Amino acid sequence: MSNTIAIDGIEVSTDHFINGERVPSAERFEDRSPIDGHLIGHIAAGLPEHCDAAIEAARAAFPAWAALGPEKRREHLHRFAAELKAWGDKLARVECEDNGMLFARLKGHQIERCAHNIAFFADEAMKLVDHTIEGRNAKHRLQFDPAGVCVLITPWNSPMMLTTWKLGPALAAGNTVIVKPPEWAPLTCSMLADVAAAAGLPPGVINVVQGIGATTGATLVADPRIARVSFTGSVPTAKSIAQSTGRNLVPASFELGGKSAFVVLDDADLDLAASTAALQYRNAGQVCLAGTRLLVDGRVADDFVARMKKVVASLNVGDPRQPSTEIGPIIHPRQFDKVAGFVDRARESGATILWGGAKHEAGDLYYQPTLVTDVGESDEVVQNEIFGPVLVLQTFDGDAEAVRLANSTRFGLAGVVFGSEQRAVDVARQVRTGMVWVNSFFLRDLEAPFGGVGDSGIGREGGQWSFEFFCDIKDVMLPQKPYAPVFAGR
Ligand code: NAD
Repeated sequence: MSNTIAIDGIEVSTDHFINGERVPSAERFEDRSPIDGHLIGHIAAGLPEHCDAAIEAARAAFPAWAALGPEKRREHLHRFAAELKAWGDKLARVECEDNGMLFARLKGHQIERCAHNIAFFADEAMKLVDHTIEGRNAKHRLQFDPAGVCVLITPWNSPMMLTTWKLGPALAAGNTVIVKPPEWAPLTCSMLADVAAAAGLPPGVINVVQGIGATTGATLVADPRIARVSFTGSVPTAKSIAQSTGRNLVPASFELGGKSAFVVLDDADLDLAASTAALQYRNAGQVCLAGTRLLVDGRVADDFVARMKKVVASLNVGDPRQPSTEIGPIIHPRQFDKVAGFVDRARESGATILWGGAKHEAGDLYYQPTLVTDVGESDEVVQNEIFGPVLVLQTFDGDAEAVRLANSTRFGLAGVVFGSEQRAVDVARQVRTGMVWVNSFFLRDLEAPFGGVGDSGIGREGGQWSFEFFCDIKDVMLPQKPYAPVFAGR
């Protein structure tokens, strides 16, 4: 029988899910809710034998799943997406309790997106069939073969959404998978296995091995039997994974952190820019894409800051289960201390805290939305990802300096530029980053490429880019003209 915990009456298994069955572990780790720090339960810690069993289960399930072909897999995956929507309320409640994301946002947006992550790629995989290139010498019939067993590793800030975003293309391509959920928010990934089983996905196609990254995660990614690692998380972890996968020449994709620029030119719509800047505090700033460096033209900086201050003052920080809450808690005391430490050290070294800068009265893990200014370009608060509700403000003089400052960190995940359209597009095109929004933020389409440059990652997710990663692409060539073997030149 599976070990379970109950959240709001919803039963969630705290065990692994291997070959369609729940598997307990002799070792377990604590899972606490960021809402008030209460203990949710103890989760199975993945030991080497669990990793081995999951890899073998995924290997055994692979030939039949791969042989089904995209059309049959599409049927399975559409059932999975529909089932996920049917479980939407339960998944939203559990994710809210486990990682502190707003329940209203989960219900209003995230569940729909998770289901779309599965259904979209199921449809998109159909485009891989009959993919041909009419070359001068040969007709190339491209075949997108599934790669094999894929290990999917996600972080705690949005585990359900990020996991489904990997599951969709990995499964649609014909691979079988092992999900290694984040240890600070492991529960919805466990539920996804039940959702998939309820939708009738065959045993072994999706396996979930819970555990601590440095042990369970490290064991999985070092195994030579796996075919891919799709990782979303931090830069140090990516470097460690790259060493393991590199040893086995296993392709890995990396979606990593950011320190994205939010540029406000002097002809920007300042109200729109200011309210969008305040949105960077969403999810308590635990968003990889957030534009956390506000770069504002000095001519409009005071005006912009005054407008933003008004919006920020009206933000409701508190319990993420309440519909009126706009900013919830920080995931874990360790993350809270990291965030507070950045602000404290900036203050000590002479920076000005324009607002916030302390724990919020809502509770131990709640931090005030904070804006830091009077900083040096090389200060850690400017250069490093904080991953909390802390933004940094720098001013510039003219568009060229805006571009220089935007490009002055190791990261390059996203970016935002507000200004008159042509000027903003010109600046946007010069920002070294994977994605940049002009006069907007967070508009996403799954057919578009997603990913970063520099320390923000390697590879792209989305549309056909996901399949390029999750497939072994084979070129079957037929001669365009009558063929004759020759030893020298044509
Ligand atoms: P993390 O790197 O500590 O952990 C991420 C995952 O990796 C977890 O599941 C963890 O258990 C696992 N892990 C840790 N060590 C491992 C190892 N040695 N081998 C294998 N797996 C291991 O990151 P985090 O603190 O959970 O997440 C925050 C980071 O994720 C931030 O940097 C954030 O910007 C980034 N992020 C990026 C994106 C994106 O799409 N680019 C999206 C969300 C979050």
